[in-house]
Amino acid sequence: MLSTAAQHNAAQSDLAFQRCINPNCAATYETMSIRTSCDRCGDLLDIAYDWDRAAVPGQLSDFEAMWSQRNNPVRFSGVWRFHELLPFAPQSKIVTVGEGQTLLQQADEVAKYVGLNPGQLHLQYEGMNPSGSFKDNGMCAAVTHAGMMEAQRAACASTGNTSASLALYCSATRAMKAVIFIGSGKISYGKLSQALDYGALTVQIAGDFDDAMIRVKEIAKKLGIYLVNSVNPFRLEGQKTIMFRVLEALRWEVPDWIVVPGGNLGNSSAFGKAFSELYQHGLIDRIPRLAVINARGANTLHELVQKHGVKWNGGNVSMEPITQYNESMDRDGKRADTIASAIEINRPVNLNKCLRALEVMDGVVREVDDQQILDAKSQVGAGGFGCEPASAASVAGAKLLRSEGVIAPSDRVVCILTGHELKDPTATVAYHSSDRELFEKTLGSRGVTEANYANRAVPVANELSAIIDAIEQHS
Ligand SMILES: *Cc1c(COP(=O)(O)O)cnc(C)c1O
Ligand SMILES: [Zn+2]
Repeated sequence: MLSTAAQHNAAQSDLAFQRCINPNCAATYETMSIRTSCDRCGDLLDIAYDWDRAAVPGQLSDFEAMWSQRNNPVRFSGVWRFHELLPFAPQSKIVTVGEGQTLLQQADEVAKYVGLNPGQLHLQYEGMNPSGSFKDNGMCAAVTHAGMMEAQRAACASTGNTSASLALYCSATRAMKAVIFIGSGKISYGKLSQALDYGALTVQIAGDFDDAMIRVKEIAKKLGIYLVNSVNPFRLEGQKTIMFRVLEALRWEVPDWIVVPGGNLGNSSAFGKAFSELYQHGLIDRIPRLAVINARGANTLHELVQKHGVKWNGGNVSMEPITQYNESMDRDGKRADTIASAIEINRPVNLNKCLRALEVMDGVVREVDDQQILDAKSQVGAGGFGCEPASAASVAGAKLLRSEGVIAPSDRVVCILTGHELKDPTATVAYHSSDRELFEKTLGSRGVTEANYANRAVPVANELSAIIDAIEQHS
């Protein structure tokens, strides 16, 4: 039974409903229910809308008018500014901490590294979000829905950024208590420190992310805790707006490529949904191509799509190669292992949605190793604001696709930098350090042999002339 307040919310949110992504099932459920999969077939859920009754603007540039309403928190938010394209919540229920004030930067130095013509590479800095990663785009949407459902507690399993984001929203809005599940020893201090500092109940499981994910689902069900992992379809609605802001920054011109790191595959899924809806509304006249980049040490999507030919196939995904692949991982005791901890995931929960996005966006999947990731990361850092290792997989992937000729030098490419540089300073310092022991310990075990673009600190005696010499010599 819904309370009176919840019934009121239900009346306002009747534009939206939840729908099974499998077109052969397409079961629907009301917005005012908490679920992470289809009751009937077990597949993932989308948020769908009765668009005929929604107030979708006639053209994308109509959203520019929203900027003049910046003193309204809902319009200040880089997510809720696009409320008309994710209308599942009444305005009064919207949770925001001012997320989505992110930047698209033309990066010519990085373009040179990737092999693109000047002016053709753009970096979308999602690390500029309040908790330092793109996760805030989705978390404000999930916490909004949790609030509509009057949830008292919200939980997630996390490689770090989801938990940092959930912890921030719960502490900043005082709406509910955050319960986060992390694996042991994997999470970077930048991310762990956020969860602890923001006061989240932090449960450290003896296992890795994939283990924590299985547990959190069990616990959420058993204790009735609201689950905000990216199996939560509301989160992905918020993440659609990353693409809206990219288009906005490009003066509503559609780029040729969107390149994004792939972990649990929520982002890539959300991007596919964003573009397919924009196209359906007639707000864009073509859809960019998508490249999802795995780390080689966590390359399930790459294996399945590029090696086993797994496809969305209009919703008829052949499950056999997927089951076989999962079984072989179990048999071999295969564990995800990459310096890019945010994408260190072997069982991506949004696999089927990502397959759909790959179909909608004529996408490709590639894998890059940790050496390629860290070299690319150093280029991003040298060219501007920097990013965490997982984010740089996008730039390394763009470089790879350029070298294969899949991306042309004249293509307009947007790489999504998913997390802030300061999330994982250990990896950065180890890369640039001349301390070989630190390098070996942090990176050597991951197959990284050289810091090809290291910017080493210059050791110098505490003596004026020696310091002057050192500066003259190195500049
Ligand atoms: C979560 C995360 C990813 C992976 O995104 P998915 O949506 O899970 O594929 C990549 N980079 C960073 C920094 C992240 O926090
Ligand atoms: Zn179903």
